[in-house]
Parts: sequence; C-alpha cells; structure tokens
Amino acid sequence: MNVDVIVIGAGAAGLMCAASAAKRGRKVIVLDHANKPGKKILMSGGGRCNFTNLDIRPENYLSQNPHFCKSALSRYTQWDFIALVDEHGIPYHEKTQGQLFCDNKASDILNMLLEECHRANAAIHTSCAITQIQKDEHFQLETSLGHFSCDSLVIASGGLSIPTMGATGFGYQLAQQFGLHCLKTDAALVPFTLSDKNQHLAKSLSGLSLKVNATSKTKNFIDDLLFTHRGLSGPVILQLSNYWQLGESIEINLLPTQDIPTLADNWKQEKTKKELTSLLSHHLPKRFIQQYLSELCGFDLTKTISSYSAESIEQLSKHIHHWSITPSGTEGYRTAEVTSGGVNTDEISSKTFEAKKVPGLYFIGEVLDVTGWLGGFNFQWAWSSGWCAGQYV
Ligand SMILES: Cc1cc2nc3c(=O)[nH]c(=O)nc-3n(C[C@H](O)[C@H](O)[C@H](O)COP(=O)(O)OP(=O)(O)OC[C@H]3O[C@@H](n4cnc5c(N)ncnc54)[C@H](O)[C@@H]3O)c2cc1C
Repeated sequence: MNVDVIVIGAGAAGLMCAASAAKRGRKVIVLDHANKPGKKILMSGGGRCNFTNLDIRPENYLSQNPHFCKSALSRYTQWDFIALVDEHGIPYHEKTQGQLFCDNKASDILNMLLEECHRANAAIHTSCAITQIQKDEHFQLETSLGHFSCDSLVIASGGLSIPTMGATGFGYQLAQQFGLHCLKTDAALVPFTLSDKNQHLAKSLSGLSLKVNATSKTKNFIDDLLFTHRGLSGPVILQLSNYWQLGESIEINLLPTQDIPTLADNWKQEKTKKELTSLLSHHLPKRFIQQYLSELCGFDLTKTISSYSAESIEQLSKHIHHWSITPSGTEGYRTAEVTSGGVNTDEISSKTFEAKKVPGLYFIGEVLDVTGWLGGFNFQWAWSSGWCAGQYV
C-alpha cells in the first residue's frame, strides 16, 4: 500500500501529527506494534492525564539545544490544545501550579485524538511489527501487516521508559540507520533509590509525604516528597531527577516554611515545659520525627526546650533544614515517566521536524532530545511537535 504519510507510533505525538496531516488532505496511516493506541496517555497523570500546563515556557524543557523547542511551543500552544479539549466538551480542572487534568479519565484525551484521526480519515493499525525500513524514491516498510510505502515517514515511537507499555529504542536505531546522531539517553522524572541507613529510613516511612525544598547541584524545587520502599519519590524528587547525575548529593529542607532557631527562641520565650518532640510534632509528622531525628540522627528530643544549648539547636536545624543525601541511583526506565536525551536536535529542523540530512524523514515527541518538567510539559511537547510536523509532512 502506498500512502503520503506513515507515522510510526500511535502515542501522543503520533496521533496528533496524523490528525493534523490528514486534515490537510494527506493520506495518512499510523502503525504501532502495541495492541492498543495511546497506552501511555491512559496511564498518565494517575489515570487522569495531566495534558498540559497553563504556564508553558522553554525553560521548562531540557535539551542540549535549549532553543530548539521554542518555535513549536509558540506555534501550537497550550491554548490551542485547551481549545481542542473544549471543542470535544472534555471536563478538566487545574490541580496545582497550572497543571490541567481531566475531571474524569485519561481516556477522554485518547478518545479525542482517535476521534480527530477518524474524522480526518487517518487510519491506525496496531499490533504491527516493523521489520525493515529502506529509502529509495519513497520509504519502503516491511511489516507484519505487509508492505507499505510513503513519501513522508514520521518517527513518533517515544522513549525507553516503561518497556512493559511498549517502549523500545526503535526511534534511536532508525535515526542511526539513517546516519543521524543520538545523544545518550537516561531515565528521567524517576524516583531515587537509597542505600544503607537512608534506605532503611525510607522503607520504614514508606507512604509518608512531606512538602520540602530539594536542591541538586544546579536546580531547586519546592513540592511534595514521598518516602517509598526503595527510596524517595514524589513530584519534588521526579523534578530534581532531571538535573541529577550519579554520585551527586542532594540537599533537602524538610521544613521549608519554618526556621528552627526562630521556633526554638519562641518556645523558650513561652517558657513551655513540653518535650521538644511534642513541640516539633506541630510542624512535622510524629512518625518522621521518631524515625529520622531520634533514630537516624540520634538526636535526643525528650527534654524541655530550655535544656537545649544554642549548639544543639543549631545541630537540630542542620538535620531539618539541610538533610544531605547521595542517592544510590534511580529506579531506571522501569518506572521513569520519560527518557532524557535521544535524537540530537541539531539533526532536525525546529520548524518542520524533518531530518536535515534525510528529506522526508521526521522525528517528533519524546524520541527527540527534549525533556519536559513534570506537570503536563511532556504532553505539550508531544502536541506541539506533532502538530507542527503535521503541517509539513
Ligand atoms: C506513568 C507515566 C505517567 C505520565 N504522566 C504524564 C502526565 O500526566 N503529563 C505529561 O505531560 N506527561 C506524562 N508522561 C509522559 C508522557 O506520557 C510522554 O512524554 C508522552 O507519552 C510522549 O509521547 P510520544 O508520542 O513521543 O511517545 P509515546 O506516547 O510513548 O508513544 C510512542 C508509541 O510508539 C510505539 N512504539 C514504540 N516502539 C515501537 C516500534 N518498535 N514499532 C511500532 N511502534 C512502536 C509505542 O507502542 C507507543 O504507542 C507520563 C509517562 C508515564 C510513563
């Protein structure tokens, strides 16, 4: 079968590209090896899909070339996607920090994209293994569903995160087959693992969440931290993981809204007879105070506030405001939300998403070296890059 455009990958970027190209009258088919389209959309945002953010900026993306994402993000914006969501009557709400989630289910977003493809006559073929791609005058594809050829081939096969959902290195291998350079990939937006006493602490506090201020060598975020059986997770850790390298330590302010020396002065002035542990429990969970300050740090909290010297309060302040830990690693692609690195954007036109060296070959979405922060930024990249490529394929 010969068509104008073949999109490989029926995920966020691929479906958006297919619908927008088909609306231009191009004959489009989408091929995916998974048995269903849009699996990651369905599992995103805890099943409610954080589909964009009200405040999308290029600074929310990591890439070797931080300018690459600017053009697409400004040509197909969050407002364009929100207008599409409105047109389909999908109810949504802002959860926090501009993050927009479906009121009902993530399937609302997937169904909207499938409907857009259907209306424009873009056909989607799932359970299709692509075995060989070659280029002569056209791209020639050998697949488990037979032979296909096309003028424009769009690679929207995503990154390596969550292999059980169908993630593969297909896009990187294809880029290399056509002589394009790929940058080292890594698991991103991913929980940290800990070792020794810190891992023991995390395990014993598993399920507990605190609002903290966490700092890596280059970046700082304020959000929730979640203790897990393996280490640390929660939005603040996922954000920081994008900026963290193995071997680096991170510093966590476990009580960013208060200052321990000031609190201690106030308690002393009140001449309270309560134990320090009881005073602290107004600000931190008791379980955390016990496991972290008493057991891990060995800080005696059983005395009344007047018994603590300035040095002891300084020590307590250090434990609470400057907890320094070195993660032993991350949970890797198994649980990472995205993959950092990928097809080098130097190889790709930021306007059309066509490979500069290979006319007719396009790369969009996560397969490219563009990684967004947590909060709807990665989907917006998929929508923006997919829509822009759809105007040129
Ligand atoms: C658990 C989880 C939650 C997330 N939540 C959010 C969120 O709320 N908000 C947000 O912005 N981002 C979120 N993300 C990130 C977001 O899902 C991705 O950034 C986005 O899906 C990338 O879109 P894509 O189209 O480039 O790739 P994908 O959506 O991954 O689509 C790639 C498609 O290519 C197919 N494919 C792969 N290899 C082959 C092959 N060899 N042959 C044929 N087909 C192939 C796959 O089956 C898949 O359908 C989340 C990710 C995860 C894992």
